[in-house]
Amino acid sequence: MSSDPAERTDDADADAAAGTPPEGSEAAADAAAAERAAAAKGGDHLLSIEDVDAYYGQSHILRDLSLHVEEGEICALLGRNGAGKTTTLRSIAGARPPDVRDGVVRLKGEAITDRSTEDVSSLGISLVPEERRVFPNLTVAENLHLSDVARNWSNVVGRAISMDHPGMTTEEVYEVFPRLRERASQKAGTLSGGEQQMLAIARALKQDTDLLMLDEPYEGLAPQIIQTVEDAVERIADMGTTILIVEQNAVAAMNVADRAYVIDQGAIVFAGDSEELRDDETTRERYLGV
Ligand code: ATP
Repeated sequence: MSSDPAERTDDADADAAAGTPPEGSEAAADAAAAERAAAAKGGDHLLSIEDVDAYYGQSHILRDLSLHVEEGEICALLGRNGAGKTTTLRSIAGARPPDVRDGVVRLKGEAITDRSTEDVSSLGISLVPEERRVFPNLTVAENLHLSDVARNWSNVVGRAISMDHPGMTTEEVYEVFPRLRERASQKAGTLSGGEQQMLAIARALKQDTDLLMLDEPYEGLAPQIIQTVEDAVERIADMGTTILIVEQNAVAAMNVADRAYVIDQGAIVFAGDSEELRDDETTRERYLGV
């Protein structure tokens, strides 16, 4: 993701000014039709986004975007730089901007489009942003402890609603990320990029999370560390948490994901099993460059 939102306005305006439908809009229409068919088949998805249009100011970024995530799966949203992946996650999480002007986001069938980030989080959706937010001057153990404090405070003020997955204990988190146990007394700011990513994910897991959304978790990580994070993502899924992973690194994401969507210029251009995408050279080359 571009680091400073303000810097990205020009790009977005340029996209919007172009005023043309996304390249491959036939693919977008096919993917939208497939998504509508899936929605019609069963309305019991954990998360669904239906015909969402989202804007930054006048810039139209997400265009009639629909996708769903099923309980228990790892679902990937893939696309190039600037395709609209982070905007999709922000739209789900209730983060504003973007401004969601049309369409609906549902969690277990309930519309959450107009909920605040706090509300969405208390309903069981956790977003680990690309910036890997940890407290650099606190140790790993202290960072994890702070998540407990935040969770308990949520309970006190009555925000915690979903307790389907009541949040992992520190011990469970250390089982997912043994490296964090080894680094428990180390200041978070001195950890490697991969370890900070693990800590950011671990902090999210301490909340009552039904759906964990990871924004480019592999960004800037060495291949060996990517493998470690991939393994952890699979362990988290095995422990019962549904995952929506957003990545530019399509190969790594396809390794762990059951299903994948490809987004281009704010519209879904592919929806299917990861295996299908692996076999679909045209889509991969055209939209993902792999
Ligand atoms: P990246 O990995 O580069 O973030 P992405 O697929 O996550 O890619 P988004 O961050 O969702 O892309 O950005 C989609 C479009 O919206 C881009 O054209 C970007 O410049 C623009 N954009 C993102 N954030 C803002 C913002 N706060 N204000 C204006 N435009 C924005």
